[in-house]
Amino acid sequence: KRILDLQEQLVSARESMRHAATHDSLTGLMNRGEILAMLQRELERARRERKPVGVVLGDVDHFKSVNDTLGHLFGDEALREIGRRLRTQLRVYDGVGRYGGEEFLMVLPNCDLPNALLRANGLREIVASTPVVCSGEERLITMSMGVAVSGSDGKNELETLLNQADAGLYAAKEKGRNRTEHFTPASKKTAAAHTRKS
Ligand code: GH3
Ligand code: MG
Ligand code: MG
Repeated sequence: KRILDLQEQLVSARESMRHAATHDSLTGLMNRGEILAMLQRELERARRERKPVGVVLGDVDHFKSVNDTLGHLFGDEALREIGRRLRTQLRVYDGVGRYGGEEFLMVLPNCDLPNALLRANGLREIVASTPVVCSGEERLITMSMGVAVSGSDGKNELETLLNQADAGLYAAKEKGRNRTEHFTPASKKTAAAHTRKS
């Protein structure tokens, strides 16, 4: 009995270590490494099945000002609430991870561009729909979304796709925020200009 108990404790310790290594402790979402691993797996599957994969890179608008005016704890709660809202909009086989500080990456298997744009807009709307409330304070928070969709060809697909989503995101920021944009050659130029500026 003692040995069985010990073994059970070991299994559960290993499981919680695995969870801690793959998830973000603030939001409980997948961490950057884990959502990228999922994207890689989905791209491989999609190539075999000749299906598209949509990615949505979302960045909270003016988040520095949220922290500056309402405090870091409010900011933390806002990130948690945004994570919860994004999750409610996704299907079971979609993925969402915390990609960086206030950036989230959504992976949408079998999703072409028109659908990815619709889904990204739904995600944007659920965040902007009602204010985030914490300790008696409330604030409407919005996100900008950059969308890209994989083709079926091979090399460096993950990196290309992320760069394209990033270019879409920069275009959304430049066009005024709280909007969804996808990669076009023009948005690539805009992103390059933005990078040079900063
Ligand atoms: P933009 O609309 O251009 O994205 O403006 P922004 O203010 O969101 O962009 P910026 O990159 O200047 O600021 C991001 C802020 O996000 C700064 C950083 O302190 C905050 N942030 C990053 N991670 C966390 C976190 O875990 N908790 C809190 N409270 N803030 C965070
Ligand atoms: Mg950012
Ligand atoms: Mg931001």
